[in-house]
Amino acid sequence: MAETKIPYKIYLNESELPKQWYNLRADMKNKPAPLLNPGTGKPMTAEELEPVFCSELVKQELDNTTPFIDIPDEIYNFYKMYRPSPLVRAYFLEKKLGTPAKIYYKFEGNNTSGSHKLNSAIAQAYYAKKQGLKGVTTETGAGQWGTALSMACSFFDLDCKVFMVKVSYEQKPFRREVMRTYGASVTPSPSTETEVGRKILAAHPGTTGSLGCAISEAVEVAVKSEGYRYVLGSVLNQVLLHQSVIGLETKTALDKYGIVPDIIIGCAGGGSNLGGLIAPFMGEKLRGERDYRIIAVEPASCPSFTRGVYAYDFCDTGMVCPLAKMYTLGSDFIPSPNHAGGLRYHGMSSILSQLYDDGLMEATSVKQTDVFEAAELFARVEGILPAPESSHAIRVAIDEALKCKETGEEKTIVFGLTGTGYFDMVAYEKFHEHQMDDYIPTDDELAAFRAKLPKIG
Ligand SMILES: *Cc1c(COP(=O)(O)O)cnc(C)c1O
Repeated sequence: MAETKIPYKIYLNESELPKQWYNLRADMKNKPAPLLNPGTGKPMTAEELEPVFCSELVKQELDNTTPFIDIPDEIYNFYKMYRPSPLVRAYFLEKKLGTPAKIYYKFEGNNTSGSHKLNSAIAQAYYAKKQGLKGVTTETGAGQWGTALSMACSFFDLDCKVFMVKVSYEQKPFRREVMRTYGASVTPSPSTETEVGRKILAAHPGTTGSLGCAISEAVEVAVKSEGYRYVLGSVLNQVLLHQSVIGLETKTALDKYGIVPDIIIGCAGGGSNLGGLIAPFMGEKLRGERDYRIIAVEPASCPSFTRGVYAYDFCDTGMVCPLAKMYTLGSDFIPSPNHAGGLRYHGMSSILSQLYDDGLMEATSVKQTDVFEAAELFARVEGILPAPESSHAIRVAIDEALKCKETGEEKTIVFGLTGTGYFDMVAYEKFHEHQMDDYIPTDDELAAFRAKLPKIG
């Protein structure tokens, strides 16, 4: 059958950029579990969340019913600088694999921050500015979120204070300088600047830090400083809402050519890019209009979905944040120091956790050497140097395409290519020098972290 030739890149016009975010929760029969106040065990109210988060973002966080939320003009205009992002047909990868599968990727690395995180950073900075705040605090692990947030804050002339996981701070001095170029201040975490940082340092001298610990520090500074709020780059419902632009654009681009994906794949750290990419497709699935296979890919060294438990847990190590019900490894969990591929958060978005628990999506875990092998293959044939995080999705897209080669099925695969890997050359170097191993936590190790989960109900 003659098929309309699909262009290498499907670009949308500026006028096709979504004007509203899509709130997947509105179509979920089983809503994600509410955040709980660790003191009372009751759902967090807006009043309790407002000392930590901006008011408009609190509203979005708690809104389980409004399906579409207008994107304010200021955010929409900023989006126009780097969106719509291209949906690329991976013709060269298909050819290299010799697969009958049709592979597409949505590329979110076309901005200076190098990842999808800018989609939410600009929204969060905008609402902070609109509320008349002086600045925001946050944490960053690999550095992409901190970079995105510092860009967004400089655009709206807001102060930006970033706690950067110490190991990344030391390994990625260039990331740090990009953030400082955009005017942010960057502190390695754990630090002596906060009570919680001093406590963690006393208990674990020489620790190289973790996301959970940096979150605790950033929250403490936000709550104690007049005119500051805390912002988070993943996990939260509001972040998945902002990231729905990824999925909405992808759907518009596919619809233009009458393409219907069979499989949608995304890497999952805290779940924001995956939640955004799948949003409109999962919406169709929830409304019974269409079915898709949806696969979350996580590192074997930090397997929240595949080996975690669905339970209430702290979002941070210092236990200062509300409790979230999610697939979690326990808030004390820190991936092995030789884990180089990102996606190192112990928990997962409550929205995705509920969808996974309801059997609406799958999850799989991959070893980091397999991830870097896929990354290198992809770079060589498609030209883009992928972020290690994104390469988890590449790995599984390749594996699914190779299965099609065996069966002869012409499946259509869409995956999220969340960013570029220019600042991850230390990890690539380890891979090239064969110094990368695949440490996978044992059941006993995971059980020890799980035993420390808070007892709820
Ligand atoms: C942060 C990040 C991720 C993982 O975060 P999610 O919230 O799970 O999307 C994936 N890829 C890149 C490039 C990132 O910067």
